[in-house]
Amino acid sequence: MSDASILFDRLCVIGIGLIGSSILRASRERGLVNTLVAADLSEKVLKRVGELGIADVVTSDLAEAVRQADCVILCVPSGAFGAVTEVIGPHLKPGAVISDTGSVKGAVVAQMSPFLPENVYFIPSHPVAGTEYSGPDAGFAELFQNRWCILTPPPDTAADAVGRLGDFWRAIGANVEVMSAAHHDLVLAITSHVPHLIAYNIVGTAADLETVTRSEVMKFSAGGFRDFTRIAASDPTMWRDVFLNNREAVLEMLGRFSEDLTALQRSIRWGDGEALFKLFARTREIRRGIIAAGQETPIPDFGRPHGKP
Ligand code: NAP
Repeated sequence: MSDASILFDRLCVIGIGLIGSSILRASRERGLVNTLVAADLSEKVLKRVGELGIADVVTSDLAEAVRQADCVILCVPSGAFGAVTEVIGPHLKPGAVISDTGSVKGAVVAQMSPFLPENVYFIPSHPVAGTEYSGPDAGFAELFQNRWCILTPPPDTAADAVGRLGDFWRAIGANVEVMSAAHHDLVLAITSHVPHLIAYNIVGTAADLETVTRSEVMKFSAGGFRDFTRIAASDPTMWRDVFLNNREAVLEMLGRFSEDLTALQRSIRWGDGEALFKLFARTREIRRGIIAAGQETPIPDFGRPHGKP
């Protein structure tokens, strides 16, 4: 492995779940770091990380974990960023890059900033990649491949530090975009948070129905319902925290969504087929655009194996 590929001498990842373990796996596989440090408060998680062999140092001592690290990435649930930063803040190496992978940026910045010393570079990041699974076994090295990672550095952050973190995300497969934390939260409210809320809601509504039995819902789910169930199976703790932490932006987008839903309801009531057709033709183009952008497979029905069990 050539030294040219080394981006950080020592990388510390805190919170070794789906995202944290994927970062470790990808860094190791691509030889980007000399020493990989994995830190988590859960002994069960640490034991499993040791068995998986995805880090050089495995510890529950967060202060010790960050002491020599050139880059520290927090991959803990949204509610834990402040508490973790309070512990590691005094032990960070001067000049280190500190980042996170939180799904909401404004709230994470507010939680972490008060505990960070002046002599580190705080560059929040959000890899827009994931699955409905959690924990260290759920991760895989290709998770970030061709997915976007959004960096939201405060305006006065040194360009060199932003560049180094961007290079790291690119090296593990991601495309990188830089924007403000506030703009990130608005964009993600409509592209991720509101869609999750809709999925949670529709699956909940179906589960509560009395006139259609639960076995009918399961049996005929291929009509569209099952595609919502994948999203609605996402981690309850993480998603509770997302909505509590991105309240303003989600409520703003939900307001617009409700207005548009009412308009659709009206079109159906008044038999306005033209309005329905116009919208559905427009939305079909959006999906084609997502496929063209390489963010979705063009294979029919998401490539599900038809005819096989
Ligand atoms: P996850 O699989 O549940 O992993 C989180 C890990 O952090 C767990 O091992 C957890 O241990 C540990 N942890 C919890 N509190 C901690 C603390 N105070 N100190 C140290 N470790 C702690 O979660 P994930 O899906 O990887 O998500 C991690 C972060 O990335 C979240 O902020 C999430 O919003 C964000 N994110 C997730 C996705 C996604 O699709 N999953 C996508 C992008 C960004 P326990 O299991 O013992 O609690």
